[in-house]
Amino acid sequence: MLAQDITTEYRLTLPPWVRDELADVPDSIPGVDDRMRLVHRLADRNWREGNGGPFAALVAESETGRIVSVGVNVVLSSGVSSGHAEVVALGLAQTRRETWDLGGAGMPAHELVVNWRPCIQCYGAAMWSGVRTLVVAGEGPELEEITTFDEGPLGGDWADQFERRGIRVVRDVLRDEALDVFRAYRAAVDADALTVYNARQGAAGGEA
Ligand SMILES: [Zn+2]
Repeated sequence: MLAQDITTEYRLTLPPWVRDELADVPDSIPGVDDRMRLVHRLADRNWREGNGGPFAALVAESETGRIVSVGVNVVLSSGVSSGHAEVVALGLAQTRRETWDLGGAGMPAHELVVNWRPCIQCYGAAMWSGVRTLVVAGEGPELEEITTFDEGPLGGDWADQFERRGIRVVRDVLRDEALDVFRAYRAAVDADALTVYNARQGAAGGEA
């Protein structure tokens, strides 16, 4: 019977190596460049560990740089297609803050730091999360060109749409370092050491 058979919970869990990677990281990282540097570190290790694509994110308090959560892409390790780094980081931040609205009353201003412009899914997830700032390493076509991941049909006014909703967009923070991570990932794919996951059988690319 359906009532017995249906699943009533699913999980997006950070892999155990994340705690090791954070062992030398302080509670607060005051500089946004340094926050992005941590994101790049997590993104690079993530694909090497086999959890998912070369993507990571974190949520921080903008003013103090206090780190509230980190996220990595766990599509492969969780078996859930929505397990992108931004969704994981935002969900963990909201769980830690015990609220669905990181921009709620009495809350410090939160920012989401990601190693590229969000895909179409994470665009919405970021917009509805309550963060006041989105920090991205870059936004051009390079991500899709290098990794072959499909980011979805995001409009050219994607950043304006955030700004219109009171969410500041900060771009080009350690952009070259982001591309270095993507290129390392692509080299491993080309060497047949990895498969770019893809939910549309036969269609090119996967989802970032
Ligand atoms: Zn995404």
